Amino acid sequence: MRRGYFGGTFDPPHVGHLLVASDAHAALQLDRLTFVPNAKQPLKADTATTSPALRLEMVRRAVEGDPRFDVDPIEVERGGTSYSVDTLEHLTAQHPGDDHVFLVGADVGRSFAQWREPGRIMQLAQLGVLRRQVEEGEPDDAEILASFQRVAPVGARSPVIVRTRRVDVSSTEVRARVRAGQPITGFVPDAVARFIAEHGLYHSALP
Ligand code: ATP
Repeated sequence: MRRGYFGGTFDPPHVGHLLVASDAHAALQLDRLTFVPNAKQPLKADTATTSPALRLEMVRRAVEGDPRFDVDPIEVERGGTSYSVDTLEHLTAQHPGDDHVFLVGADVGRSFAQWREPGRIMQLAQLGVLRRQVEEGEPDDAEILASFQRVAPVGARSPVIVRTRRVDVSSTEVRARVRAGQPITGFVPDAVARFIAEHGLYHSALP
C-alpha cells in the first residue's frame, strides 16, 4: 500500500488544502493520504494558533466521507513541539511493509537542513515536494530537488516534485474573513464552516 502524509497547522483547513491533497493523491498514486495536524510547529513556536484539539476536529470534518483521506491525531496527542521525524518513525513503524511519502512545500527546501534529523526523515519516507506553477525568477525544479538532496543520506530515495494547482486561499485569509464578518462559504468545506460558527472561532485575533 502507498501511503502519503500531509502535515500542517490547518487553522482552519480550507479548500486549498483539499485540492492540493487531491492532486498529490493522484500524482503519487497513493492509496491513502493521511492529514497530520501539528500541535506546535518548531519553526513557528511563537505563533498563536487555535487549540490543537479543535484544529484536529476541523480536519476530521474536512475529510470525513472521502475514502482517499484520513486523519492521524499522533502530533496532537503527543503534544509539545511536533517534529516530523518522531511522527514518521511512529507512522511508518505501524505499516512496515508499505511505501511512505511525506509531503512538504517547495519552500521547505530553504529550511530543511535546519529541521530535526532531516536525513532520517528521508530514510523513513520519500519526500513529495508540493510545487505550484513555477513563476519567473523562482528556482527551477532541479534546484529545489538539489536543496533536499544535499542532506540526503546514502540510499535514501530521491524526492519527487508534485505539481499542484494554484489555489488562492489561505488559512490567514479565512480567519480574516470571519473576523470581518464576511462569509466563508466555498473557502472551507461546509462541515468546517458549521464547526467554526458553532464554536465561535476566529471572531477575534488569535491570542
Ligand atoms: P496560514 O495562512 O495560517 O499560514 P496555511 O494554509 O498556509 O496557513 P498550513 O495549514 O500549515 O498553512 O498548510 C499546510 C500545507 O498546505 C503547507 O505545506 C502549505 O504550503 C500547503 N498549502 C496551504 N495553502 C495552500 C494553497 N492555497 N495551495 C497550495 N498549498 C497550500
